[in-house]
Amino acid sequence: MMKTTTRYWKDQGIVLKSINFGELDRIITLFTRKKGKIQVVAKGARKVGNRFGPALDCPAISNFMFYEGRGMPILSQAEIVECYREIGKKTNQWVFANYLLFIVDRCYEQEEPDERIFEAILFYLDLSMKCDNYSVLGLKFRIDLIRFLGFLPRIRFCAVCGKRFKKIPPGWSAASGGMVCEKCSSLKDDIHYLPPEMMTLLAKVMTFSCASCLSIQLQENQFAYLDRIISEYLTFHVGKKITEWKIFLERFQEAS
Ligand SMILES: [Zn+2]
Repeated sequence: MMKTTTRYWKDQGIVLKSINFGELDRIITLFTRKKGKIQVVAKGARKVGNRFGPALDCPAISNFMFYEGRGMPILSQAEIVECYREIGKKTNQWVFANYLLFIVDRCYEQEEPDERIFEAILFYLDLSMKCDNYSVLGLKFRIDLIRFLGFLPRIRFCAVCGKRFKKIPPGWSAASGGMVCEKCSSLKDDIHYLPPEMMTLLAKVMTFSCASCLSIQLQENQFAYLDRIISEYLTFHVGKKITEWKIFLERFQEAS
């Protein structure tokens, strides 16, 4: 008879999303500290009074125990650490929390561990309970992700020729990886020409800390510009559509 091995392991994770599976089960997508994004089966999770309780709600953080059989890992235990009950009380805050989870799900493939992103989710969820400037928080979260993923744009040097800028250049190219000098801009066909004040703002949100960014007075049209540029940049480098915060929020408002 063939011997099968079953392996148990523990990890802390946050629920990114959950879909119904079969009659009583759910497939849960988690972002865990040790393994990054994983999908597991939560057997019986749709039964009333099931053993997992609110540990499988978004954006709950729990200590999980899994076991590995032949197919997808099976969730055997979930002990809730933080359920962010307060977040569910304010609509935009709840949408913002879901936006963070949506972006992480889009940007990461399975089993690409990155504890910095796990900590960043916790940081922004905590911050969203003290500060309701979700537009700026959403920008900074995407910029942090760009940094973790290793394709931070060049803003002091030309992304094409590497020459240091003496003044802010007009050209921006997601494909080239950042700001582009005048000479190189004339040779490329994918250059966005941004007004100088937008280039300055873009450089600021890229380099300033989250606290400093929150003190910048952004007009609505300026935010819309940055929201689009950052999402387009992520979309290009990740290869999947990364929705802008404004559109994500509007879609939710239209649906509700
Ligand atoms: Zn150049």
